[in-house]
Amino acid sequence: MPELPLTLYRAAWVLPVCAEPIRNGAVLVGTDGRIAAVGPAAAILPPDGCRVEELGEAAILPGLVNVHAHPELAMFRGALEDLCFRDWILRLVGAKRAALTEADFHAAARWTMVEALRSGITTLAATESSGASAGALSEAGLRGVVYQEVFGPDPAQRDGAMAGLRANVECLRAWECGRVRIGVSPHAPYTVSDALFAAAAEYALAEGLPMAVHAAESAIEHQLVQGGRATLRRGCARAASTRPRAAGRRWRCWTGWGCCARGRC
Ligand SMILES: [Zn+2]
Repeated sequence: MPELPLTLYRAAWVLPVCAEPIRNGAVLVGTDGRIAAVGPAAAILPPDGCRVEELGEAAILPGLVNVHAHPELAMFRGALEDLCFRDWILRLVGAKRAALTEADFHAAARWTMVEALRSGITTLAATESSGASAGALSEAGLRGVVYQEVFGPDPAQRDGAMAGLRANVECLRAWECGRVRIGVSPHAPYTVSDALFAAAAEYALAEGLPMAVHAAESAIEHQLVQGGRATLRRGCARAASTRPRAAGRRWRCWTGWGCCARGRC
């Protein structure tokens, strides 16, 4: 990391979070980019050669954390509003398959990182099938985890899905560093069989990878998970039975989110 100018930031409020808010506070940032001192402005005088930034009526606080985001899908903002969950997810999947390329996912992920930084988010967990956020997080200087999704509601799809997951994770691990981690996401209870869930969990444990799952985000998912019944289920079953399946990495899951079929490695 290149050496930065020693800088003292002063603001009406400093919120350390681990301690009480400080009225008229200051934060001294060293040439290594790390916080050297935090406290009342009156108690932290600028050392010789220190730059001073007066931020006025502002609050200085640690970066915000977004624990669940889909940066690769940023281009859908405003396009899928006011739909029930089943229509929303099927339209989302249809549009992804019909119109989007790897380049679109990468552009969307990079744009999301810009928006995140503008919003004060410095740590972000991305759950996605393209893996586009790994490079985007790294480039933007953000911290985060990219959970590689895996799909497969039919137990017979387990081995093909796991082969795809392993291949994709291997590729993404090239981006791992002190700020960026790679994880695993068995997508959801209605898109992943018990067998695939177990295999993905075993793999994550063996590799020391964090895991994330979509569980009951909407009312209809809650109904499905709790009671095993919802219109979503009929939709899934129909979709699963009408999609062609093939062996190995060319297999496509019903969602068409292509975790195993995109052949990016
Ligand atoms: Zn989600």
